[in-house]
Amino acid sequence: MLACSLVATVLFASGAGQAYAQAPESEEPRWSIAIHGGAGTLDRNAMTPERREGYEVALQQALDAGAAILAEGGSAMDAVKAAIVPMEDNPLFNAGRGAVFTWDGVNELDASIMDGRDRSAGAVTGVTTIRNPILLADAVRTESPHVFLMGEGAEEFAATQEIETAPPEWFATDARREALERMKADQLSALDVDHKFGTVGAVALDMEGNLAAGTSTGGMTGKRWGRIGDAPVIGAGTYADNRSCAVSATGWGEYFIRVGVAQEICTRLRSRAELLELLAVGIGQHPVVEQAEAQSSADAVMAEVAELGGDGGVILVTPEGHALYSFNTSGMYRGRATSEGLNEVAIFAEE
Ligand code: ASP
Repeated sequence: MLACSLVATVLFASGAGQAYAQAPESEEPRWSIAIHGGAGTLDRNAMTPERREGYEVALQQALDAGAAILAEGGSAMDAVKAAIVPMEDNPLFNAGRGAVFTWDGVNELDASIMDGRDRSAGAVTGVTTIRNPILLADAVRTESPHVFLMGEGAEEFAATQEIETAPPEWFATDARREALERMKADQLSALDVDHKFGTVGAVALDMEGNLAAGTSTGGMTGKRWGRIGDAPVIGAGTYADNRSCAVSATGWGEYFIRVGVAQEICTRLRSRAELLELLAVGIGQHPVVEQAEAQSSADAVMAEVAELGGDGGVILVTPEGHALYSFNTSGMYRGRATSEGLNEVAIFAEE
């Protein structure tokens, strides 16, 4: 399938002196996008038709926002931001408005974004006043000499970029506050009160063949001591490289950091593409990483997370246009759309 792609892995120097991975050539330009709104132990009994509809509508809106940009020839970076912003603004998800509370009763937000063309990346952690942390992460990428900013410093930088802020009550919701109170009263772990990781993310391939990935979260309920999960960590929760794939993760962040999930999946796919390219030399065939190979690479990395005791999921897109999920939880809020006509949102594993 999709055998018309050429996977080119040669590096070219741009006029600006930066190395860019060459976009895959394709007879017909194609695009694809995948989104998630968190994975976890999702309870079918608690999923009323109204609640389900709320999630499906929110996922479809985010998917449509990203897909519309790609279908019009826009960039993967713009599509990723366009898909994530409405999910950050929607209190159903644990990102931006509706983020979980820290032990001290604050909504501390993390986000990261990466451009597969040049592997430029931006990330922020522990911000409390930024309405859309994904946009601040992107400003770090494009307007600062750094990759990763934290807390007050990140907010000082945001002020120089005219990034929109919001008061604490914008982010706070009763449901998340109740989860923190229950956790404290019953001495529960974050997983007991909320074994549903509501982090949001998007990955995209645009018609130029460029990949991008972004992730945004409030972290885990009751986090303390300045705990940072995988979502803002480039290589763990987010990674994009035109030579291999774009990945965004959701799950028990400590395990995703230990495995280096997002980069590990991309490294496996890049090795596979390079091997195929070597084998193709002289026989005039164009190497293509098949969908099943990409899926099994993602599954293998998620199996490593499970072996260590962690759980969660990933979304990925490849230069060939495959839009895939892999998760080891009972569900993951998710959606995908491609120029080939695929357009779906789903919640439980067997859907
Ligand atoms: N991965 C996030 C974290 O560990 C949680 C989530 O996916 O919802 O902070």
